[in-house]
Amino acid sequence: MYRTHTCGELRNEHIGKTVTLAGWVQRIRDFGAMTFIDLRDRYGITQLVIDEDTSGEVAQAAEQLGREFVIQATGEVLERSSKNKNIPTGDIEIRLTALNILNPSEVPPFTIQDDTDGGDDLRMKYRYLDLRRNAVRKNLILRAQMAHAVRNFLTEQGFIETETPVLIKSTPEGARDFVVPSRMNRGEFYALPQSPQIFKQLLMVAGFDKYFQIVKCFRDEDLRADRQPEFTQIDCEMSFVEQEDVLETFENLTKYVFQHVLNVGLDSFPRMPYTEAMKNYGSDKPDIRFEMLLREITETAKGKGFGIFDSAEYIGAICAKGCAGYSRKQLDELTDWVRRPQIGAKGMVYVKYNEDGSLRSSVDKFYSEEDLKIWAAETGTEPGDLILVLSGEKDHTINALGELRLELGNRLGLRSKENFKPLWVVDFPLLEWDEETRRYFAMHHPFTSPKTEDIPLLDSNPGEVRANAYDLVINGVEIGGGSVRIFDSALQAKMFDILGFTPEQAKNQFGFLMNAFKYGAPPHAGIAFGFDRLVSLFAGLDSIRDVIAFPKNNAGRDVMNDSPAPISEDQLDELFLEIRKPESN
Ligand code: ASP
Repeated sequence: MYRTHTCGELRNEHIGKTVTLAGWVQRIRDFGAMTFIDLRDRYGITQLVIDEDTSGEVAQAAEQLGREFVIQATGEVLERSSKNKNIPTGDIEIRLTALNILNPSEVPPFTIQDDTDGGDDLRMKYRYLDLRRNAVRKNLILRAQMAHAVRNFLTEQGFIETETPVLIKSTPEGARDFVVPSRMNRGEFYALPQSPQIFKQLLMVAGFDKYFQIVKCFRDEDLRADRQPEFTQIDCEMSFVEQEDVLETFENLTKYVFQHVLNVGLDSFPRMPYTEAMKNYGSDKPDIRFEMLLREITETAKGKGFGIFDSAEYIGAICAKGCAGYSRKQLDELTDWVRRPQIGAKGMVYVKYNEDGSLRSSVDKFYSEEDLKIWAAETGTEPGDLILVLSGEKDHTINALGELRLELGNRLGLRSKENFKPLWVVDFPLLEWDEETRRYFAMHHPFTSPKTEDIPLLDSNPGEVRANAYDLVINGVEIGGGSVRIFDSALQAKMFDILGFTPEQAKNQFGFLMNAFKYGAPPHAGIAFGFDRLVSLFAGLDSIRDVIAFPKNNAGRDVMNDSPAPISEDQLDELFLEIRKPESN
């Protein structure tokens, strides 16, 4: 046995005992007559002491120690003369009687402590050292606790955890596939699953009734803070259910995980139709921790000679409570903020509703106080508040205003990470029109069922058809989404047709699903939660990278093992592949 206790375990009650610990040297403080060594493992830090009474042999061994050496240390537990209230083992220390260096270490490229001096790139390159830090490890422990809670809940509810293959035929979830060449099938490729969507539907045809899996999914998309090329879903499917049953089950799952892991109790989740979310929040993932709703003032703002507004398709405003006192500088800063390419507004108009009841705006030339009062009434603005107005093409402006709302929410401290506000966004459109390719795309995926009452619109006005699709949103983050599925082959064939698949293409890509549907598919519905996002929300982090043990960087690279990387000529030959030389022009 290498150790009798961990480095986080010893307390006053152990005083007088002889113990053996093993771990990494965090820090050495040499005061001549006395040397202190902080010994660290996953469980904590314990102070080791070497003083005049320590044997020469042990003292000599200690002189060789450096940061991150792995050692085994034996000694007596003593009460400390000056206690450290900041750590759980701060009442005691170990006077060494034996010291065994298990493995020396080179000087690490950054210090292994909560506030490290290592930059992001360096930490990622040496992720195994980064993971020694409490701050990072605690996120992964949280992740494990959450996965455990999810499994407990779903298993108790009768869900069967079932693995589905990773080498598959492409499943359309709206992103590009990662593909894997097949050595045994010359010139053919597998795709890595963007999700187990088709397999879980087949499990319903198979009568599994309730399926779940905590599963890796792969999507070749541009990356952001909340996206990785491989990520994890809590993936679920249920038979003989309606939308309501799915929402109830997964609302309960969410509440269970919050309660068991964070000890946070949540009220029942409100429901918001997609159109309302877009209109009031400028987003299909509204942050409802604060109000500041978007208000359209197109009608009242037009026709006063202000050209920019007169030519705008949409004019919208938000009211920032208590911000009438914003300085020129603050307003200029916000204007610059909305003009950034990511937001893309051309400019911003403001109205200050001063405490004395007067109204001043950046467009005073065109609008009288009476005009501005109408905007104030429309936006619920009172003396002391500030109105901010954006205008332009409708969808784009609503989006930009939604972003501005979030930014103001940040600046005004309305988005506390300890305040969790979940909701269901429901009634998503079934289809999305793509101007570039001039065709419809499935907003969720091609297996999503239209609302029964909207089915007649599929022929006349497909863009207006609403889906039985839903998203769980918490604090402005899309945690998951799902839908009631089409289980009728004729309707499914119609959907493929609307999405521009020829019958041959549909047969080629989804033939096995369509075949399965011929043998008695039950009504079914499902959902998937983005597990990484849920963990980062619980951890109070903005990036999902910090809740993944070995993440990729923004260019999709693993900088630790330096992948992706070229493969050898032999491997290429075996796979019948040739790399095209970049064309020189
Ligand atoms: N497969 C879907 C997704 O990954 C979720 C679902 O519809 O169940 O978004």
